[in-house]
Amino acid sequence: MHHLEYNATVRGTVLVSADSMVLSIEADQPRRGFDSGQYVLLGLYGSEPRSLNSLPDSRPLGTRTLIQRPYAIASHSAETSRFEFFITQVRSGELTPRLFALEPGARLHLGEEIRGSFLLNETPDGSDIIMIATGTGIAPYISFLRTHIADRPESKMVVIQGASHEEDLGYSSELRFLEKRYPNFFYVPTLTDPDEQWQGRRVRVEDLLQGELLQNEFNITPDPEWTHFFISGNPVMVRTVSGWLEAFGYSRHHPDRQGEYYIEEY
Ligand SMILES: Cc1cc2nc3c(=O)[nH]c(=O)nc-3n(C[C@H](O)[C@H](O)[C@H](O)COP(=O)(O)OP(=O)(O)OC[C@H]3O[C@@H](n4cnc5c(N)ncnc54)[C@H](O)[C@@H]3O)c2cc1C
Repeated sequence: MHHLEYNATVRGTVLVSADSMVLSIEADQPRRGFDSGQYVLLGLYGSEPRSLNSLPDSRPLGTRTLIQRPYAIASHSAETSRFEFFITQVRSGELTPRLFALEPGARLHLGEEIRGSFLLNETPDGSDIIMIATGTGIAPYISFLRTHIADRPESKMVVIQGASHEEDLGYSSELRFLEKRYPNFFYVPTLTDPDEQWQGRRVRVEDLLQGELLQNEFNITPDPEWTHFFISGNPVMVRTVSGWLEAFGYSRHHPDRQGEYYIEEY
């Protein structure tokens, strides 16, 4: 089997909680660029150590097994060498415990192709954009906003982010900053298992939508002609929200068939 070389270096690891981190890497060779919302494969060999708080491998992984998984890029799409990712550790997983053991300067494999059709730039200019995420599903929206927020002053843009605990709300400081800076941007964090200090919403994102949050707080009607939706994260949440949208006449966007909602399940 062809032995793929490591071709990127870790530049930063910021642990946001025990099992989530922002990972920044630098490719040895610049890439041709990408569209915000796309993903790329990260890979490490089975011989790499696992993090201290993970479980042992459930099967032996040879030193020549390159474990690769897709990750959404959170960076501005003008970046060609430095890429940022928001990653949750699956303690029993094959790759994430190895990613969580990386330190700055460590080497890893970055896939050659940057792919994906979860793209803000396929929505019509002027349409309102609702971005719904649980967990690390927030990453593509960070790329959307870093890249496009200043280009779309006529669109209302709303991020609804669900998590269990406050520390799982990745990028919340950046999202709160954008909300202050841009009058057309709104950030709605909600927690299902918050501690007592949490002053914000305490429901699942599905329930916020069904409770007419968009209509009541932002004067946005779920109408496929005017409002496009992105849904990313937990598969159960993705399916529930998709079903809710279809009742309003929405159809799923595919690369070869235009639709008004876009999904990415992890
Ligand atoms: C297009 C795309 C983009 C993705 N982007 C991201 C991203 O930006 N950040 C990110 O962290 N992940 C992302 N993922 C998920 C990622 O590719 C891996 O599946 C994940 O990191 C687990 O890899 P692993 O090798 O550690 O676990 P594996 O050895 O592959 O084991 C996975 C097992 O854990 C379960 N599992 C997977 N994810 C979770 C989870 N979050 N919590 C609990 N159980 C889980 C699976 O059902 C499976 O049983 C993305 C997936 C896709 C398809």
